[in-house]
Amino acid sequence: MPEAEVTIVAEKFDETTSHGAGGLWKPYTLGGTPPDLVNRWGQDTFDHYLALYQSPEAPQAGTILTSAYQLFPEPVPDPEWAAIVPHFRHLTDRERAAYDPEGTHTHGWFYTTIITEGRLYLAWLTKRLAAAGGHLVAQRVGSLDELAGFDVVVNCSGLGAKELFGDDSMYPVRGHVIRVRAPWVRHYVNGATGTDKDCYIIPNTDTVVLGGTLGKGDFDTTPRDEDRRGILERAYQVVPSLRAAEFVSEWVGLRPGRPSVRLELEQVALKQQQPGGSSGKSSLPVVHNYGHGGAGLTLAWGCAADAVQLVQQALAQR
Ligand SMILES: Cc1cc2nc3c(=O)[nH]c(=O)nc-3n(C[C@H](O)[C@H](O)[C@H](O)COP(=O)(O)OP(=O)(O)OC[C@H]3O[C@@H](n4cnc5c(N)ncnc54)[C@H](O)[C@@H]3O)c2cc1C
Repeated sequence: MPEAEVTIVAEKFDETTSHGAGGLWKPYTLGGTPPDLVNRWGQDTFDHYLALYQSPEAPQAGTILTSAYQLFPEPVPDPEWAAIVPHFRHLTDRERAAYDPEGTHTHGWFYTTIITEGRLYLAWLTKRLAAAGGHLVAQRVGSLDELAGFDVVVNCSGLGAKELFGDDSMYPVRGHVIRVRAPWVRHYVNGATGTDKDCYIIPNTDTVVLGGTLGKGDFDTTPRDEDRRGILERAYQVVPSLRAAEFVSEWVGLRPGRPSVRLELEQVALKQQQPGGSSGKSSLPVVHNYGHGGAGLTLAWGCAADAVQLVQQALAQR
């Protein structure tokens, strides 16, 4: 929308959930979001990252192309998104053995995927926004009434939507990750997929992300000794050379869990006229775009494209 004037209002512009994420392209903890939507949003996003990766912008945007090795204790059906990632196939016995020294996994997937490091990608997006004349306002929003001066609001408040829009269906999915320095580790490896003792290894630009935990309903963002020990032990089993890696940092983030991603236009009633407010409006069009669970970076671009269409629809209805 080249003619739009865009202002991003956010309490935090750093250290958000998106900054801490591993950045792997893979649909994950998305509740019951319909697979056809996940695939459409996911494909658009994958294509966007791939184009970025193939451009001179890649180092600034934090995109890395990598091989993925995903192991399972028992055979599982292929994922709905198999056709989106290049080279999807089953692991051979020999490939599986490389990451399964104890031979406890009998099935596995190989594919090529993209990692987009949130910290770098958000900085890159922010620069693009500034270059296009966009504004940033650091402000905690207590009520939609505070935004009554805008024509349309796009709600990308993540888990914050629980309080801001009273969405009681939202819940945190607590995730603990550790960053280490291990430049020799360049593959994404995942064992025990989707359990609360998940084991994943995601290379980023300067660090490697080791995870993780899946604490549904847990709001505690303090790292726990037991989780840290478990993450490291499981990672060492899969890639023993990680024992030589230097510990860099650890972080606990809350994935914005929801029964389904919410991407829709709603006319939301304002509670009252703000003091000094000039709008005289009783409601405001809000394009909701939140609840992306463990896959915000995986679906971001595709969801944003739909959100833009809904903004245009809202403006046309004025
Ligand atoms: C450990 C971990 C690993 C992950 N790994 C991956 C991965 O590998 N791949 C992937 O695709 N996804 C991953 N995710 C998931 C991903 O991080 C989230 O889906 C994504 O960050 C959600 O983005 P968001 O913009 O909706 O929310 P956020 O990044 O949380 O941003 C919300 C913004 O809204 C602002 N806000 C909220 N409420 C208010 C308010 N009342 N007033 C003003 N501002 C407000 C916040 O300050 C913030 O700026 C991971 C998550 C975790 C926790």
